[in-house]
Amino acid sequence: MDEMQKITSLCKRRGFVFPSSEIYGGFSAVYDFGPYGVELANNIKKEWWKNMVQLREDIVGLDSAIFMHPKIWEASGHTTGFADPLTECKNCHSRFRVDHLLEAIGVVADEKMTEEQINGIFGQNKSKIKCPDCAKSDFTKVKKFNLLVKANLGNFTDDWAKAPVYLRGETCQGIYVNYLNVLDSTRVKIPFGIAQIGKAFRNEITARQFIFRTREFEQMEMQYLCKPGQEMEEYEKLRQYRWQYYMDLGFKPENLKWHKHENLVFYAKEAYDIEYNYPFGFAELEGVHARGDYDLSQHQKFSGHELSYTDPQTNEKYIPHIIESSVGVGRTFLAAVCEAYAEEEVAGEETRIVLKFPKQLAPIKAAVFPLLRNKPELVEKARKVFNEVKRHFMAEFDDNGNIGKRYRRQDEIGTPYCLTIDFDTLKDNTITIRDRDTMKQERIKISESGGFLKQKLSA
Ligand code: ATP
Repeated sequence: MDEMQKITSLCKRRGFVFPSSEIYGGFSAVYDFGPYGVELANNIKKEWWKNMVQLREDIVGLDSAIFMHPKIWEASGHTTGFADPLTECKNCHSRFRVDHLLEAIGVVADEKMTEEQINGIFGQNKSKIKCPDCAKSDFTKVKKFNLLVKANLGNFTDDWAKAPVYLRGETCQGIYVNYLNVLDSTRVKIPFGIAQIGKAFRNEITARQFIFRTREFEQMEMQYLCKPGQEMEEYEKLRQYRWQYYMDLGFKPENLKWHKHENLVFYAKEAYDIEYNYPFGFAELEGVHARGDYDLSQHQKFSGHELSYTDPQTNEKYIPHIIESSVGVGRTFLAAVCEAYAEEEVAGEETRIVLKFPKQLAPIKAAVFPLLRNKPELVEKARKVFNEVKRHFMAEFDDNGNIGKRYRRQDEIGTPYCLTIDFDTLKDNTITIRDRDTMKQERIKISESGGFLKQKLSA
């Protein structure tokens, strides 16, 4: 099995990720998080929120609705420009993103190129490209395929009843259209940011690579509003801040790299992605982009509502320029699992699979075991310990199978500590604490175990 298959299979087997609607044959490019997956995803979101809101005096949070006025998507350019280049294999009818087919043979392309531009490049290289599914080399002309997902939510009150309503394609539009509300109701002053975590929907052409590219996904976005002329300084700070975030999460620097966009959309000042070294190669994890005043200017134009900012000190009036950080929960999830995944040889035992998550991301922080399940005095004591631990941490009680098997199970879901209650516990109130990474066991007093976990898990 290759690395990606191993990770996909572990995610399914251990309750991290399930294909959507599996009993109906699945639903392409949509996935569900299982019991450990939802914990990991929640921890990722918690960590992001802590970093982007809690620790920042200059950033506030928001949770805007998924449904928005249809005009928003016209103003943002999504109804016309939010489209990927699509081709179909004439032999097997599989559909592909043309920029991806070109990249695979080393030709630089970008989904943001015009239909004409990309048709030209594709035309020159078509004969060198084989269909990834049937290996034939016969493709249709490139067509731009709009990614917005339409909904049929009723809008009965005005002319927009005729316009399609969309499930949002990105969360940041909710931030732009609320910027004045935030400004008027809080004490923020430029430069400041608004952060939001929420679902987004895109009709992605290809549905491969597990949870890397899904049609329903969650984004964690922060839009930072700056005075014109000062945004590039803030942009550099934001790039450093986001890089440091991954370092603090324990990502190996060699598994991350910056990718500079050469083919910028006309309004953008600069665009970099942070790419992660997934098993299928380096690919976009996060975008850090300087967007100029395009977003707010467009909404001002389309809504007819003035969106300029007046500096309270100088009375200067301007449309704020925006820099953004935008990252998917699913892509962070997959990167975190890949980063944590290890296979280790253990003398005299089967290869150990372990997810060495940083402690703040681990779905379960501690597991509590009675040595034997048929000794009521051990079970009772273990239950007591568990009842205390679970008040402070996400914890699990397990009395099933031998201790070795229970350790292995916890290793595979990435639990940092296992606490075992044995016969010595009954004599001297001590337990063993086993460390996931070193597999070493220490004996400590039950009364000290809470402090031990608090200290280790917050370190
Ligand atoms: P790609 O080029 O891979 O399609 P993108 O440039 O369109 O991505 P953005 O619009 O910049 O992506 O979205 C910001 C972030 O949202 C991405 O960096 C990624 O983490 C996440 N994201 C975007 N599309 C998807 C998707 N289909 N599935 C999961 N996450 C996604």
